[in-house]
Amino acid sequence: MDLKLSGKFIAKLRKAKGLTQVKLAEILHVSEKTISKWECGNGFPDTSIILPLCEALDISANELLSGKRLNDDEYKNQAEENLIRLQGQQEKSHKFLLSTEWVLGTISSISFLIMIFVASFYEIALAWRIVLITFGFLQFLIGITFCLKIEKDVGFYQCAYCQNKYIPSFKQVLFSMHYGRTRFMKCPKCGRRTWNKKTYKE
Ligand SMILES: [Zn+2]
Repeated sequence: MDLKLSGKFIAKLRKAKGLTQVKLAEILHVSEKTISKWECGNGFPDTSIILPLCEALDISANELLSGKRLNDDEYKNQAEENLIRLQGQQEKSHKFLLSTEWVLGTISSISFLIMIFVASFYEIALAWRIVLITFGFLQFLIGITFCLKIEKDVGFYQCAYCQNKYIPSFKQVLFSMHYGRTRFMKCPKCGRRTWNKKTYKE
């Protein structure tokens, strides 16, 4: 996706329709600044606003993503290309989230162990021991909760039996046995409990 190209395309179509930035902003319930940001290629409409924008400009979402009008032959190729690009971007953000999970999990586990170690083996006042253990435990709990949330939301789990892909509930992730990112969970479709592998493809 070329933001500059899509931006210029939006500006061109808007002018052809005789709309000012203010008028288009009114139609879409966004600020004038937002429109000018898109047109300058410094941003792209949120997914929620892509369809209303396309409707206002009389184009398809595919044309908006491509930054140009498409004829029938081009349409199919371009659709696939846009999908692949979008997937590439999603994969990148998945990778980022998963490394965040790893770093967060490691840091909160290690600092928990250090605090417990200090509280158990060093000669410090009882009050400090309690503070250390409480704080260590709390930060560990918060860290792990965030990790599990990332684990749950990124990609899908795939049922080993019926191959159904799904996003489990937080509770399911919290209470399931796991090794690495493979979890023993109940599939919401077929209801069987199997080892569900993590997958990133829809
Ligand atoms: Zn299943």
